[in-house]
Amino acid sequence: AYLDRIDAVDGEVNAFLHVATEGALEQARAVDARRAAGEDLGPLAGVPVAHKDVFSTKDMPTTAASRILEGWQPPYDATVTARLRDAGLVILGKTNMDEFAMGSSTENSAYGPTRNPWDLDRVPGGSSGGSSAAVAAFEAPLATGTDTGGSIRQPAAVCGLVGAKPTYGGSSRYGLIAFASSLDTPGPFARNVLDAALLHEAFSGHDPRDSTSVDAPVPRVVEAAKRADIAGMRVGIVRELSGEGYQAGVLERFHEAVELLESLGAKVVEVSCPSFATALPAYYLIAPSECSSNLARFDAMRYGLRVGDDGTRGAEEVMSLTRAEGFGPEVKRRIILGTYALSSGYYDAYYGSAQQVRTLIKRDYDAAFEQVDVLVSPTTPTTAFPIGERADDPMAMYLADLCTIPTNLAGNAALSVPCGLAAEDGLPVGLQVMAPALADDRTYLVGAAVEA
Ligand code: GLN
Repeated sequence: AYLDRIDAVDGEVNAFLHVATEGALEQARAVDARRAAGEDLGPLAGVPVAHKDVFSTKDMPTTAASRILEGWQPPYDATVTARLRDAGLVILGKTNMDEFAMGSSTENSAYGPTRNPWDLDRVPGGSSGGSSAAVAAFEAPLATGTDTGGSIRQPAAVCGLVGAKPTYGGSSRYGLIAFASSLDTPGPFARNVLDAALLHEAFSGHDPRDSTSVDAPVPRVVEAAKRADIAGMRVGIVRELSGEGYQAGVLERFHEAVELLESLGAKVVEVSCPSFATALPAYYLIAPSECSSNLARFDAMRYGLRVGDDGTRGAEEVMSLTRAEGFGPEVKRRIILGTYALSSGYYDAYYGSAQQVRTLIKRDYDAAFEQVDVLVSPTTPTTAFPIGERADDPMAMYLADLCTIPTNLAGNAALSVPCGLAAEDGLPVGLQVMAPALADDRTYLVGAAVEA
C-alpha cells in the first residue's frame, strides 16, 4: 500500500531519492519468515520506514543528496540501518535532504527540492525534509532523520509531525555520512509521540563502533509516551525564544500549548537563558568548521564522482575539478567558511570563541534545569515558508534554526510535537520540549500530554 502511495504522489512531493520497489517486498517476506521461525522481533516488525539518504545502506544507493556521491552504494550498513533491519522494519527507500544535511528547506538537494504536502509551494523544512514530507504525505508511517542543528525538529514542526533529537551520543553515528561530528544525532519522525518513541528505542543505544556513543541505558521513552502524565512537572518557558521576529500565529498556538500544560497540572515559570542569543553565530562557525574537515574525504579518489581524469591531469587538478562540479553552492560556502575559521591566526578568534559560547549555553541549560524539569519554546519562528523565498538569502535561512540550535550545542535531548495550526495560513505549528542529556523520556512525556 505504501509503495502504491509513493507511486501516486511522489512525482509531486519528491520525498524519495530511491524507492526500494522490489527490495521492500523482499524485506517484508524475510520478516514474515523470521516471525514464522519463532523469532521475537518486537513491536515494529513489518512496519515500513523511510530512511534518510545520509545513512549508509549496503543494498541501496547512499548520496546525501550530493552529485559527488551519485550512484554510490556503500559496502556496509550504518548502525541505525542495521538496527532497523534487526527490528524487522522494512526500508521503503532513501529520502531527499539538503546536500550533506546543510540547510533548512531541502532546497539544497542536488536532485531538486522536496515539497511540503500541506502546501506544495512551500518547503517541508530541512535538512531531513524528504523524511518529514514522506510521513506527512502518507508515503511512510515512520522515517529516520538526523538533527545537527534542528534538522529533525524543524521539518517535523512545519509538516505537522512528531520529531525527536535524542541526547548526543544516544544514537549511533557509525555509517552516517558526517556533517558536524560533535553535533550529528540520528532520530525519529512519526505521526504521533508513541510511534516516535517506538522507533527511537528501536535504533538507539550504545555502539562500540562510535567513539562518542554513550554507554548508558536507553531512556525509557516508550514508557513515558504511554504514561503521558505531567502533574507536578516543572516547565520553564525560555524568555529568549519567543517574542519579536516570531509569527503571531505561531506564538498564539505556543501560548495555548503552555496553558494546556498548566491545566494538566504542570507548574509553569519563565526562565532566562541569556547566552542563547549567541547560539546561532556560534553554530554557524562550529558546524562549517567540522564540515570543512569531514568533507575533505571527497577527494575524487575514494568515492563516487571523478571529473577530468583523462590521463593528462595530475591528482590535484582532478580533485579540484571534481569538487567544483560535485559540491553545490551551500556546501562550498560552508567549506570556505570553515576553512577560514580554522586557519592559523583566526582559529582562536572564531572557532575558539565559538567553543566558549558553547560552554556558556551549556551552563544556561544546567542553571535552568536546576529550577525546572523541561524547557519549552516554539520549534520554529514561522510556519513553512514558500519555496524560493530564502534560497538566495543564507542569513534568512539560518534563522529557521533559532530555537533548535541551543539544544545541539549542549548535546541535550529535545522533541517537537504538533500544537495546532497558525490562524493566518492554516499551517502546522510545533511545540519544542527540551530536557537534559539522557532525560529524553521527559520530552516524550510532555509531548504525549500535549497530544492527548
Ligand atoms: N539548518 C542547519 C544547517 O543548515 C541544521 C542542519 C541539520 O541539523 N542537519 O546547518
